[in-house]
Amino acid sequence: MLTSNIKTLLEEILNSPIVSTAPVSGGSINEAYRITTDQADYFLKLNRSAPDDFFEKEAEGLKLLDSADSTLRIPEVIASEGPTDNRPGFLLMEFIAEGRNGDSFAFGAELAKLHQTAAETFGLDSDNYIGSLPQSNNRHNAWSTFFTEERINPQLKMAIDSGKMDSDILKNWDRLSRKLDDLLPPCKPSLVHGDLWSGNYLFDESGNGVLIDPAVYYGHPEMDLAFSKMFGGFSSDFYSGYESITKLEPGFNGRKEIYNLYPLLVHVNLFGGHYTSQAVRFLKQF
Ligand code: ADP
Repeated sequence: MLTSNIKTLLEEILNSPIVSTAPVSGGSINEAYRITTDQADYFLKLNRSAPDDFFEKEAEGLKLLDSADSTLRIPEVIASEGPTDNRPGFLLMEFIAEGRNGDSFAFGAELAKLHQTAAETFGLDSDNYIGSLPQSNNRHNAWSTFFTEERINPQLKMAIDSGKMDSDILKNWDRLSRKLDDLLPPCKPSLVHGDLWSGNYLFDESGNGVLIDPAVYYGHPEMDLAFSKMFGGFSSDFYSGYESITKLEPGFNGRKEIYNLYPLLVHVNLFGGHYTSQAVRFLKQF
């Protein structure tokens, strides 16, 4: 249920009375609602305990994805605000009705086009969030340095500081990180979604791919592809579509475990449990 103060604020923003509100399930962090006015449907995310800039960063990420030269659909952001004493933080955007059938090949091809959006250096102008965790985006010239200093080191520190992992593991990571320049192929800093698992895209009623809930930065495009495979993978048409635009360098299947150390450590810090043993098992190989 929406409290009356958030409802009033949304009606002011939308300049229209809200006629109905229905909860939407499927999110892992926030409360979500479909909001209906006489004019249109909207999608609302609410979070009482989110950091002040949490939804602002998500909104910036969606807008950056929308500016890419790709036909992937990105929900239009209407408003975002941090929490106050008497109402939660919120992100209000266009509601996108989910379709029955999606064009996975086109989705893959359009993601490859989105990845062609390049920058001079790896990172982003500001930090943002991955799930509910802070994501540091200081700029670096080398992908291996960015991956080490901005992705793995902060997550390993968090896991060790909170007692989820033992500091012994740092020597294994140190051995692996020294090899990264040899193991990972070079690339231009490329715009990535940053949290591309199957819960963070959908197909609209016309079958177009829609990206939601991003954790954007300029990184290695293989990060998105590796993450897409972490929980079983997307359809084979998706990968064929991707490779119709950009061929993967040989050896991706071996490299994906290295890229996925990042989302794995994020899962260690969010959930612990078997993710921790999986991360330790992976790192102990080095
Ligand atoms: P969370 O940040 O809590 O993980 P998500 O952004 O993943 O939440 O959204 C939760 C669910 O809501 C998604 O799985 C999707 O089904 C649906 N959803 C997300 N954005 C929209 C949108 N703009 N329009 C319609 N449904 C959406």
